[in-house]
Amino acid sequence: MTVPTRPAAETAPAAPRRRLHVITWGCQMNVYDSTRMGDVLAPLGYGPAASLEDADMVILNTCHIREHATEKLFSELGRLRRLKDARRAGGERMLLAVAGCVAQAEGAEILRRAPYVDMVLGPQTYHRLPEMIAEAEQSGRAVIATDFPPESKFDHLPEAALPAGGVTAFLAIQEGCDKFCSFCVVPYTRGVEASRPAAAVLAEARALVASGAREITLLGQNVNAWHGAAPAGGEWTLARLLYALAEIPGLTRLRYTTSHPRDMDDDLIAAHGALPALMPFLHLPVQSGSDRILAAMNRRHDAAAYLGIVERLRRARPDIALSSDFIVGYPGETAAEFAATLALVREIGFAQAYSFKYSPRPGTPAARAADQVPEPEKEARLAALQDLLAAQQQAFNQSQVGRRLSVLITGRGRHAGQIAGRSPYLQAVHLAAPETLIGREITVTIAAAGPRSLAGAWPAEDEEHAAA
Ligand code: SAM
Ligand code: SF4
Repeated sequence: MTVPTRPAAETAPAAPRRRLHVITWGCQMNVYDSTRMGDVLAPLGYGPAASLEDADMVILNTCHIREHATEKLFSELGRLRRLKDARRAGGERMLLAVAGCVAQAEGAEILRRAPYVDMVLGPQTYHRLPEMIAEAEQSGRAVIATDFPPESKFDHLPEAALPAGGVTAFLAIQEGCDKFCSFCVVPYTRGVEASRPAAAVLAEARALVASGAREITLLGQNVNAWHGAAPAGGEWTLARLLYALAEIPGLTRLRYTTSHPRDMDDDLIAAHGALPALMPFLHLPVQSGSDRILAAMNRRHDAAAYLGIVERLRRARPDIALSSDFIVGYPGETAAEFAATLALVREIGFAQAYSFKYSPRPGTPAARAADQVPEPEKEARLAALQDLLAAQQQAFNQSQVGRRLSVLITGRGRHAGQIAGRSPYLQAVHLAAPETLIGREITVTIAAAGPRSLAGAWPAEDEEHAAA
């Protein structure tokens, strides 16, 4: 995914003196980090480049969660090296930085294999980019920052703002993870769990709303483990934070991702019933339906506990739609254990979900297990699970046809005369309507459903009658 940095008009008073291009792989947290790196560099005169070829600085913001991450990085670096050489031949310098979780995990190895890289920085050190650039430019040597600094990068980032016309925003409230699931690299690449103070989160949310945000998604690797310092002393939970955010005028939609079942406490579940701004959609990864596999994964919950949480959520908010992550082919997973995952999916009924083949991650306990599942078996299981999940998603989308849904219009649609937005259940909705509606929440009658999106009609039927 290539993430544009904010338009120059938003971040620097004049046209950018230096052109920045950020290429982002991975999760929403990486998308957020890429935007924030753009914010850090704006005071240095960096604005978005028209194209990769045009850039004075290229940042590769990498993800290490599944296989091929390192090979993907080095193949992209090979392409960029040719670009960098061509620029040098023309008497210009192009800075090349590798950021994110592969940078954290591979560190100096990146500079060994790709000595033309100017900077390597982990997810916790990107606030230091300005000094790293100065050092790289002055010394002509590569600079590396992959430590876990004692200061929080959030204390050093400029105020967040949306690009002109932006309606939805991410806001990182928590980083890192102490759960150490046996398959996962996050605790090693992102470090231990850390929560931002509530006052800083509220200030960032207000700034985002002031620049046009109507919907904010709170982010964290383990977002519902958030326990930040309260504005007047003591500590708040995520539920308490959501109540405070819901009071910000103009902020009509709240979401949070990604959650761990262990941290779905009673207050948080109750907030889903009490807060109209909290959207009726939750991404709650379960990974497997087999208790033996869940224990081997060190998930610290079983299938019954997950089903219990879903039941309580549905009691609090009957229309809540659910999403999840699944891993198939975890070491030692038998056919019967995989069948338990299918059974759990059938019992719950997901509105959407992500599913992955288990991928051994260097340094994680599961990667050392002897009983790795053969690749063809993993592929067959993934295909079976994805068929079931796709059918559930299609059925959920179909169940919206004829309903009137509140849709937040986020931008133009793919075709002329079309605009697009998001339903409360995070479905993409396309409709023929004027662009003047961008940024507004409108009621739309759902006319048709596809596998991944909905088609809407506007004005919704009763609004038409009211207007007649
Ligand atoms: N913190 C979240 C949680 O506890 O569920 C998820 C974080 S992780 C960035 C996103 C997803 O990637 C996980 O839920 C898992 O399904 C998948 N994942 C992580 N490590 C993996 C691995 N080694 N192989 C396959 N999928 C993996
Ligand atoms: Fe990784 Fe999520 Fe487990 Fe943390 S809780 S180790 S981020 S899968």
